[in-house]
Amino acid sequence: MPRPPQGMAMKLPSLNIQILLGCVLGIFAGRWLSTAPDIAPTVLYGAKLTGTLFLDLLRMVLVPLVFASIVSGVANLRAHHQMHTVWKTTLAFFFGTMGLAILLGFAAAHLFRPGEGLHLAMFADATRQYQAQHMPLADYIARFLHGLFQNPFKALANGEILAVVMIALFFGIALVVGGERFRQLRSLIDELLALCLLIVGWIMRLAPLGLAALLLQLVATQDLALLASLGAFSGVVIGTTLLHGLIVLPALLWLITRVSPLTFFKGAREALLTAFVTSSSAATLPITLRCTEQHLHVRQDVARFVVPLGATLNMDGTALYEAAAALFVARLAGIELDVAQQMIIFFVAMLGAIGAPGIPSVGMLSMVLVLESVGLPTEAIALLLPIDRLLDTVRTAVNVEGDMIGSLVVQHVTTVAE
Ligand code: ASP
Repeated sequence: MPRPPQGMAMKLPSLNIQILLGCVLGIFAGRWLSTAPDIAPTVLYGAKLTGTLFLDLLRMVLVPLVFASIVSGVANLRAHHQMHTVWKTTLAFFFGTMGLAILLGFAAAHLFRPGEGLHLAMFADATRQYQAQHMPLADYIARFLHGLFQNPFKALANGEILAVVMIALFFGIALVVGGERFRQLRSLIDELLALCLLIVGWIMRLAPLGLAALLLQLVATQDLALLASLGAFSGVVIGTTLLHGLIVLPALLWLITRVSPLTFFKGAREALLTAFVTSSSAATLPITLRCTEQHLHVRQDVARFVVPLGATLNMDGTALYEAAAALFVARLAGIELDVAQQMIIFFVAMLGAIGAPGIPSVGMLSMVLVLESVGLPTEAIALLLPIDRLLDTVRTAVNVEGDMIGSLVVQHVTTVAE
């Protein structure tokens, strides 16, 4: 059979373009669905199935990937002095940027004063139905600490990412301390990681379809008018989160590493879009790691250490949201918070963001903690819950962005320190 001339062979656009097209298609299809009530349930069923299967595939590689990534990252940061620099810079970056995000949240809430003129009593119907799950701060801290160290088989089987991170850290450090003796185990884990990344590459080919399906579902099922009902608050939160993600973090990146925001966003877009659509830093992690290593060219040992750690600990968007939301609720309840109370919110919001696993809307759980810490009414969560899925999109993208920028910063600092 004659072959088509070479130039005529059908060439698909690049994966990035496909993802972008998928997202646009998803949004339009989601909007269009409201005009076609006859077929809407069938289309939604198909979209839900496709989107969930895509997420399932990402979750399938997540646990072995996190484990192998951290062990291999730590074990390859061979020289001890470099490990110290990496540790210190990573934690300083995580805490520093989360602190900055919380301050931004405070500043915006003070400046724009969303909630002024409204009163919690006006929402009595919504809040009456709601029973917040109370958890005192001491219990939260105890639960967080107990969650860190667990039977590895249980943690791996249940996908408890924070515990998996801790086990992997111990493994990695032991491999470094044991040195040559564990050479074979180390190369085995390196190969396991390469294998996981290969599978991630395959899953990524489905990303345009998976993201289109998830976006379609989001647009068709979430009521955008709800956002408008708490318009000022949503606007302040989304605007400030975007300010942090589009100005503050890229400026920090440029100041420290001289990597331009354009280069960064070009390399990071697959992960940012996936985070936006899935609202889950954990589900996005395989893609975040791939972007950080392959597009942003961060050294493997640094990326493999910083990115998985960041996906569980570093959440700028969540921290900012919790701070702004606490002040919003205070205003609704007609309570003026003094400086000491705002400092408590600062620390509890940071703790809440650190302890939150990277799954959708989990920031809402730690929100209860933040409100309780200064005696604000937890029923106010009932107002925030309906719009949370939409607000979660932007804050998860910023959470993931922080991890990628963190790896670039850590790489720069360790290279300079060498
Ligand atoms: N969905 C966020 C994340 O996965 C966490 C949150 O709810 O704030 O990063």
